Amino acid sequence: MSNVEFNLAEHPVLVDVQGMRQVYHKGDNPDLVVLDDVSVQIREGEIVGLLGRSGSGKSTLLRIISGLLQASAGKVQWCGKPVKGPCEGLSMVFQSFALFPWLTVLENVEIGLEAQGVAAAERRQRALQAIDLIGLDGFENAYPKELSGGMRQRVGFARALVVHPRLMLMDEPFSALDVLTAETLRTDIIDLWIEGRLPAKSILMVTHNIEEAVLMCDRIMIFSSNPGRVAAEIKVELMHPRNRLDPEFRALVDDI
Ligand code: ADP
Ligand code: MG
Repeated sequence: MSNVEFNLAEHPVLVDVQGMRQVYHKGDNPDLVVLDDVSVQIREGEIVGLLGRSGSGKSTLLRIISGLLQASAGKVQWCGKPVKGPCEGLSMVFQSFALFPWLTVLENVEIGLEAQGVAAAERRQRALQAIDLIGLDGFENAYPKELSGGMRQRVGFARALVVHPRLMLMDEPFSALDVLTAETLRTDIIDLWIEGRLPAKSILMVTHNIEEAVLMCDRIMIFSSNPGRVAAEIKVELMHPRNRLDPEFRALVDDI
């Protein structure tokens, strides 16, 4: 029904997790099976939501996908190769922003490019572009403590986007913000995506906000707890931001 050509099956598989298991060992306590038999596939071009209760292992799954943590068992592949360490082409937005307080906005964003060995002049130029894109123009030299929560998270987004990731992982990116600030930032991100100006090819977003998931995602994976696993999956094609450009969809919404 969409007027935007989008055939997902033709897009490359970025993340391929099959039968993955994660067990934490805590001293003398019994082992904690956090994730069991988790299978997740994400293709380029998708916005996928991961919805689950606190403690169900969502952040653990993101850490495993990004290569920050090695799974206890199962297959974890990024772009067709086993994940053995931090993955290139992947970046993360954290719930608590995770900014360096002693660095300026510009320096915090440039950090995203340092690991890639980009030359200093290009780092600066690309960081300035990302800062401008995310609406922080004029705040390049401010320190995080001088910014509101919403602006701090914009820095978090700029740092994740500056690398032009194939997949941007977002771990409850709006949940530390008040309702209105969250709404504004969410809308800005979706608008950039719809306009094709968001420099990320796909998104995996962890959230416990159902409305947010429905609003932003093509597809929502519902996570069970104890242990965490994908219990159900919902397609949200009708609501997907891409379809909002569709006149047919517009007409449907206007009818509601
Ligand atoms: P969520 O993001 O869904 O809230 P987490 O992945 O953060 O869930 O945590 C899942 C479970 O694993 C929780 O019970 C948490 O206490 C436990 N856990 C998380 N990280 C560790 C760790 N490094 N060592 C031991 N237990 C952990
Ligand atoms: Mg979490």
